[in-house]
Amino acid sequence: MPPAKPPSAQRTTQGAAPAPSGHATPPPPWQDTPPVSARVIDAITRIGAVMRAGVWQAAASEHLPPVQADILDLLAARPEGVRLSWLATQLSVSPASASDSVTSLVGKGLVAKVKAADDGRAVALRLTPAGRKVQRKLTQALSFGQDAVAALPEADQAALFAQLLQLIAQLQHSAHFPALRSCPSCRHFRASTGAGPHHCTLVDAPLPVAWLRLDCPEHSPRDAAD
Ligand code: SF4
Repeated sequence: MPPAKPPSAQRTTQGAAPAPSGHATPPPPWQDTPPVSARVIDAITRIGAVMRAGVWQAAASEHLPPVQADILDLLAARPEGVRLSWLATQLSVSPASASDSVTSLVGKGLVAKVKAADDGRAVALRLTPAGRKVQRKLTQALSFGQDAVAALPEADQAALFAQLLQLIAQLQHSAHFPALRSCPSCRHFRASTGAGPHHCTLVDAPLPVAWLRLDCPEHSPRDAAD
């Protein structure tokens, strides 16, 4: 006999939204179970909150507000430098707010303003060696999360990663997700038709799931018509 109040009937952070069309409503006593889609988002939100708390704790020990820790993380993957406007978009903050944070990081010697490689009149932002050192410390604060993923079977890790990339690509169709240079949203990406692995046309090489890029420097966004 199932319990009178099944654990799965607990409300998610989004509440028990009605099941989307095409999904059967569970029979009693499970009828209050939120749709799988809501529970997936709930799980991701909870993992994100735990991970962010870990980073923020590490950032506080470096006397950095969370947004400045986020800036160091974004710059770490882009040694060529980025524009302030791009940073603001990625952080979902105003250019003025991003500018204040960057000014503080420059003052701390963690970020440098240099000439942009593609336009000598424009300014690009890069990590300084000291900034890279701090960013590495912040990344280490996430090692407990990486350890938990690494404990899963390798095939499950790859499948989970591929599904998260697909979800990100889906979210990028809306205005709620900043640009990310991941394979599924790249014009060079050819999804597997089942006979073999995915393929990257840029380097004309097979691209197994375990090697998919989350943030590829060679990424080229698809056109709406692609
Ligand atoms: S260029 Fe980069 S992002 Fe695009 S498919 Fe190839 S590896 Fe993926």
